[in-house]
Amino acid sequence: MTWTASQVAQQVAQLPKVELHCHVTGTLRPATLAALAGKYGLQLPRPVDQLYTYRDFYDFLEVLRLVALVLREQDDFERVAYEAIEDAYKTSNVRHIEMSFNPQYFIPSGAGYAAQVAGLVAGIEAAERDFPVSALLLASFDREWDAASAEETMDLILSHRHERVVGIGLDGPERAGPPAKFEAVYRRATQAGLKKTAHVCEDNQTLAEAPPSHLDACLDLLRCDRLDHGYNLMASDAAIARARDSGVYFAVCGITSVAANRERRLDAIGRMAAAGLNTTLNTDDPAMFHTDMAHTYQHVLDGLGWGWQEARQFSLSGVEACWLDPQAKADLRRDFQAQIVELEAQPA
Ligand SMILES: [Zn+2]
Repeated sequence: MTWTASQVAQQVAQLPKVELHCHVTGTLRPATLAALAGKYGLQLPRPVDQLYTYRDFYDFLEVLRLVALVLREQDDFERVAYEAIEDAYKTSNVRHIEMSFNPQYFIPSGAGYAAQVAGLVAGIEAAERDFPVSALLLASFDREWDAASAEETMDLILSHRHERVVGIGLDGPERAGPPAKFEAVYRRATQAGLKKTAHVCEDNQTLAEAPPSHLDACLDLLRCDRLDHGYNLMASDAAIARARDSGVYFAVCGITSVAANRERRLDAIGRMAAAGLNTTLNTDDPAMFHTDMAHTYQHVLDGLGWGWQEARQFSLSGVEACWLDPQAKADLRRDFQAQIVELEAQPA
């Protein structure tokens, strides 16, 4: 193929995509955030146009938690889920998305677990009617909260079982301690047939805070089916070999909250691919990071000198790593392959 760089960029934008690492709280449009804050008479800590500009990783996590305070009623969750999917589809041709939400964040301000799920599912179903997309939900635990809170949340997940909530995740800063803290909660998820992922070895934290050894804990103790991030494991040859041999997919994110870490992030993604690790490309918090899937793809391609072949590989690896049931996954794969053939047939 002899497309020019700008033609490749156009094709990449149109490429069908799967988003697997996306936090609901990170998708709020600024206007939606302002509207919801107004609805509850909440004062934002700084003007909306500066809210998504962070001092550091921990400041970012605090803003994320503040955003969570404006989601209280079922309608709020519905609106946010719908808009997240609408934005992902319209900006980037995202055809399947798995969104994480932290039930623990919303319960203190009055949103019960069942209401959270009902709202998110209503938003998903409305978006599925309006756009050619599918969506699933992952209930995530913040590792800075204690294991007892995670157990209580797991009680809710299991007592209000919903077919859209297909898995669980673990997020927040790894300085909170090794993943082993959540082994019992994850065992219950395994027994209930839920899929499992966890944020691990994120590079916004030091090697001491997010060490390569966390990979073993996620695979052996939490029995994760997929992982989020994984960059710091590149500091250990043993961890790299383990990651490669396990075949586990890493849902990496091209853009990070800390601007100073962006080069390092790209470098890690390049080295993970070169080492033969399975990776998918994702946004993490698209609105909060001023990105979308098309922009993230282009950012990574430009940063690593990659082109169409790598973009196509990410598109298809997203399908392989997703948690749709086998039939739906096969249908999605066929649809993606057909769209790719069509894009490749376009004249240079
Ligand atoms: Zn994340």
